[in-house]
Amino acid sequence: MMPLDQNTTPLVLSGIHYQTHEPVDVMVASGIITDIQKREQAPDETLPFIGPGLVDMQVNGFAGVDFNDATLTVDGVIAITQSLLKLGVTTFYPTVITNADDTIRTILQTIHQACETSSLVASCIGGIHLEGPFISPEEGPLGAHPKAHVKPPDWSLLQSFIDASGGRIRLITLSPEWPGSADFIRQCVEHGLLVAIGHTAASPAQIQEAVDAGARLSTHLGNAAHQLLPRHPNYIWEQLAQDGLAASVIADGFHLPPSVLKVIFRMKAEKAILISDSVSLGGLPAGNYQSPVGGEVTLTDEGKLHLAGKPTVLAGSAQPLLWGVNQVVRLGLASLDKAWEMASIHPSRLLNLPQQGGLTIGAPADLVLFRAVEVIKVYKKGCDTEIRRDCTEIHREK
Ligand SMILES: [Zn+2]
Repeated sequence: MMPLDQNTTPLVLSGIHYQTHEPVDVMVASGIITDIQKREQAPDETLPFIGPGLVDMQVNGFAGVDFNDATLTVDGVIAITQSLLKLGVTTFYPTVITNADDTIRTILQTIHQACETSSLVASCIGGIHLEGPFISPEEGPLGAHPKAHVKPPDWSLLQSFIDASGGRIRLITLSPEWPGSADFIRQCVEHGLLVAIGHTAASPAQIQEAVDAGARLSTHLGNAAHQLLPRHPNYIWEQLAQDGLAASVIADGFHLPPSVLKVIFRMKAEKAILISDSVSLGGLPAGNYQSPVGGEVTLTDEGKLHLAGKPTVLAGSAQPLLWGVNQVVRLGLASLDKAWEMASIHPSRLLNLPQQGGLTIGAPADLVLFRAVEVIKVYKKGCDTEIRRDCTEIHREK
C-alpha cells in the first residue's frame, strides 16, 4: 500500500453535512480537505451524512486483539486498526493498563513497532494512553486493574515506559491521592503528556492540587468508584465542578444511567468526551468467553459484558465508539451533530490534534459517510412493503 502522505489523487466526496444538514461536495487532495461546496441535490439522490472521523481516546482492545496481552503482535495492531476504521474510528489511543513493568514495556514496544511498520497504523494511532499503574489501590476505584502492580508515581519508571513506546505515550491516567502527585503531574505536563485523573479515591484538596499542577481530564468519570460514597464532598462532585477538567464517559448504556450522562454533558459542555473503553471481546458475537481480566464472562445479545452468572458486575465495555454516539442520540441526550462532536472534535481539541478542525478546509480528510438511521424494511399497516400483492387492504385503498 502507498504511504498515506504520498497519496495525492484528488477526491470528491458528496454527503449531507453532519452539522448544517446541507448537501455538500467535499474536495480532498494530499490527505487534506481543500474545499467544501454547496451541492444541488438531485431529487432522487439519497446522500449519506458526512462528518469528521471518530477519535477514541480509550481502546483496551477490540475484535479479539488485546492491548493488555504481552503476546500482542504487530499484525494484531494492524488488524485492530482496520477493524476500528470500518466503524468510523480514524484516530485512536491504544490503552495499556496496570500490569507488571516488563509486560507494559513489551506491549508498548509492539505498538511502537507496528507504527514503524505501517504508515496507516502510525497515522491512526494518535498516541498511547497509559492507564495506571499509578492509580488507587482501593477496592472500587481500582476497578479491574490488578492490585499487585499498582504503585505510587515513579518518574524513572514512567521514563522507561516512554522510551519503550518510542515517545508515543501522550496520555496518562493516574490518581493524585499518592504523596508527590502534584510534582509528578507537573513533570508529565513538561514532557508533553496530557494528564487525566481516574481510578481515584483522591480528596477534594488533592483533586484541586492536581488541576493546579496541570491535570486536564477525568477518565471515565462516574465509573471505577466506590459502591458507596459520602453524599458530599466526594471525588465525583469535585471533578464534575472543576471547569479545568474535561470528562470522558463510557456511553454504552450500561456503565452510566442517562441522568448521570445528562449532568456530565451539561457541566462539561464542549469538554464532554465519549470513549468506548472497549476490551478485546468488543465486536464479537454474543456468548460466553474467557477474559484475561474477568475470567468467565458473558456478552449478552443486548451488548452488555458481565461476569458469568453476575449480570450486575460489568466486565468492561464491548461496544465501539459509534455505539456510544447512537446511544446518546437514542436517549435524547444530544442531537446527532453534538453527539458526533463529543466523539470527534472534543477529544481532538483536548489532545491538540489537527483533526480538531473537523469538517473544514485545511483539516485532515479523516471523514466518515454514515446514515444515522438505516432503514432495513418498511411496514404499512402491518404489511411488508416488499410483498404488496399479498396485502389486499392497501391495494383496495389505492
Ligand atoms: Zn479504566
